[in-house]
Amino acid sequence: MVGGGPAGSSAARAAAGLGLRVVLLEMARHPRYKACGGALSEQARFYLDFSLPQEVVDAEVCSLRVSFGRKSIVHDAGRRLSTMITRSAFDHLLLEKAAEAGADVLTGRRVRRVREADGAAVADAGEELRGSFVLIAEGYRGRLMRSVRPDLPDERGFCLVAEVAGRCQFPGLDIQFGGADMGYGWIFPHRHFLSVGIGGLASRLADPKTALEVFLRSNNLSFSGRLHGHPIPLAGPSMKLVKGRMILAGDAAGFVDPFTGEGIAYAIRSGQLAARTVAEALADGISLDSYRHLCWSEFGSDLRFSLFMTRLMHRHPQRLFPLFIDHPELLERYLKIPGSQTGYRDFLTYLAWRLPGLLIRRWNDCR
Ligand SMILES: Cc1cc2nc3c(=O)[nH]c(=O)nc-3n(C[C@H](O)[C@H](O)[C@H](O)COP(=O)(O)OP(=O)(O)OC[C@H]3O[C@@H](n4cnc5c(N)ncnc54)[C@H](O)[C@@H]3O)c2cc1C
Repeated sequence: MVGGGPAGSSAARAAAGLGLRVVLLEMARHPRYKACGGALSEQARFYLDFSLPQEVVDAEVCSLRVSFGRKSIVHDAGRRLSTMITRSAFDHLLLEKAAEAGADVLTGRRVRRVREADGAAVADAGEELRGSFVLIAEGYRGRLMRSVRPDLPDERGFCLVAEVAGRCQFPGLDIQFGGADMGYGWIFPHRHFLSVGIGGLASRLADPKTALEVFLRSNNLSFSGRLHGHPIPLAGPSMKLVKGRMILAGDAAGFVDPFTGEGIAYAIRSGQLAARTVAEALADGISLDSYRHLCWSEFGSDLRFSLFMTRLMHRHPQRLFPLFIDHPELLERYLKIPGSQTGYRDFLTYLAWRLPGLLIRRWNDCR
């Protein structure tokens, strides 16, 4: 496995649990910083095969505020919407869980190249390691994924985040649309800080630093510390997940919800599915292609619908975002997606039925 983020660690834990010999190579020494809002969805928690210890939980939030321009709506779900975690602690825990299951976890080991040679997968990390397969779970910053998907899409996102000291004005997830194309600004509450960030289509975020400063100021927050930028896949899941003995998981495979930027759940699940596929391939000689089928049928095709919705919403932001604020039932329905009670496809079908009537009503109200 290359990479000890949620995808690599979950794959390593699952594969070791299935009795495979696993070596995980992670370039950083953990616990390491990772730019993230730190919102763990219910779906992500569901995929974990252990219960989350209380010490890695910063907060559990039940409410959400969504704004577009001057309009905003507060939704109190009356149930947990999200678990706030700090990625250094969370990712370190996942790595420990992989080791506990029997994986050899080697940190401080950067893999420079992966290739196939003489019927084996080879990872070059200073010394060459040979195995039956190599899982590339390097996130979206690396270059190894190009061995499987050489044509990375130009459409990519970029996020800039700051950990700001101070108490939150709103105790839940605060999401503000309208500032960034195909993205939003967020303020998420953690135990000792607020995660404040902006993200959107990289090509349209000409000056992310200024955009974040404006966002901070407009929320009466100030910050003078270090900002952390990070790319994020926004073009939907990759069709190419496997090449020979090389497999992609997590961000490297494009498994991020383009509408919300959420990726931890899909990283965990794709890692687990990759482990299962490899175990079956070794036992029964089945093709690794079944991995693509598993990922696409569980969440990949739904992420395509998310991409459709993202493009639709951001093409007509002035018309569509206010609808979610004026009609709470739309937001309530939408929030069933991160809770795994529905998917983007079903939500879009529901929206398609309701949209014409809502737009006519809005048009009449504006006259
Ligand atoms: C600013 C920001 C905010 C976000 N907020 C949220 C959120 O609130 N909720 C959510 O669900 N998702 C969020 N996401 C998305 C989420 O962070 C990713 O989807 C998730 O981290 C993907 O996990 P991964 O394991 O694929 O990759 P990563 O978490 O990026 O892990 C990759 C690992 O591979 C290692 N690595 C890289 N190259 C090599 C190499 N050559 N050799 C060895 N090791 C290597 C890295 O050090 C890293 O530890 C956010 C993303 C960003 C950028």
